[in-house]
Amino acid sequence: MKKDLFKKIYKKIKEHETIVIARHIGPDPDAIASQISLRDSIRNTFSSKKVYAVGLGVSRFKYFGTLDKIDDSLLQNPLLIVLDLPNKARVDGVSFDRYSDVIKIDHHPLEDIMGKIEYVDETASSTCELIANLINNTNLKMNKEIAAKLFLGIVADSDRFLVPTTNSKTFNIVSDLVAKYKLNLTELYNKLYERPLNEVKFQAYITLNMTNTENGFAYIKLNNEIIKEYKVDSSTASNMVNNFNYIKGIYSWAFVSYDERQEIYKVNIRSRGPIINEIAMRYNGGGHKLASGARIKSPDDIDLLFRELDEACKEYKNNLDLESK
Ligand code: AMP
Repeated sequence: MKKDLFKKIYKKIKEHETIVIARHIGPDPDAIASQISLRDSIRNTFSSKKVYAVGLGVSRFKYFGTLDKIDDSLLQNPLLIVLDLPNKARVDGVSFDRYSDVIKIDHHPLEDIMGKIEYVDETASSTCELIANLINNTNLKMNKEIAAKLFLGIVADSDRFLVPTTNSKTFNIVSDLVAKYKLNLTELYNKLYERPLNEVKFQAYITLNMTNTENGFAYIKLNNEIIKEYKVDSSTASNMVNNFNYIKGIYSWAFVSYDERQEIYKVNIRSRGPIINEIAMRYNGGGHKLASGARIKSPDDIDLLFRELDEACKEYKNNLDLESK
């Protein structure tokens, strides 16, 4: 069945001379690596096609390559491929109404249907894993650079193979990329994980100052003075939220930072048990069952969100206690 889907996607790519590849706002390595890898693979396979990877760039992920600027009202019969995006509202850099042909490739739980072709696999570790599958099962070309980017996207989104969507398929794909393209893992991990000392100090500040509830929920509200004091930026907390996994007695944790430009609170939420995306969805958010985010206007709503997350931890903890009896 998947074979038919790969064929359909490849055929659609073949049909269009102009292709735009988009993903969600506030991109992470999986979102950026998947779009740049797919763009470069299509370009290498079909040299005459115009292929653009769009959306706002992020300086810390510059090593994945540069993004393209387009005016999509000027494109002739373009195909839109959206990656790592479950809901239309969070797309970056395109207007859906300008495209009559849309393909979606995503590993989030299904939300909006965006086009006639949907390759959605919630059980996959990352969108990069799906792009590797697509390339491996069609005539699309892979090379060492593409393999390295896909590898980084898989490693980042699976949190170094820690999240439960990691399975033997993930390892097979990664093993294949590493062996076939002789990837230098040390070099690649340096790109992904090297960070300035002030960020590590900031992480220590969070560790020392976060609040833990008796139910196993931990949170911190970061104000902009602290962010300035540690000389980090407001996205730094988002990038380190995964580092707080596997703390004994903490089942869900959330960081809040304030985006002054958009006048909105950004909340990063993680869990290692309680389902959090259904809660996040009630607060202008969403995501995966164990990794979600929300954008909140009112501080009161942050407290309401935290109360719900704390309740979810309480329920989860009670069930654990019952099981252990
Ligand atoms: P983050 O904490 O920003 O790394 O996001 C974790 C997951 O939640 C990712 O899959 C995001 O795409 C998703 N997510 C973050 N913020 C939102 C939001 N406001 N609405 C829907 N999904 C979100």
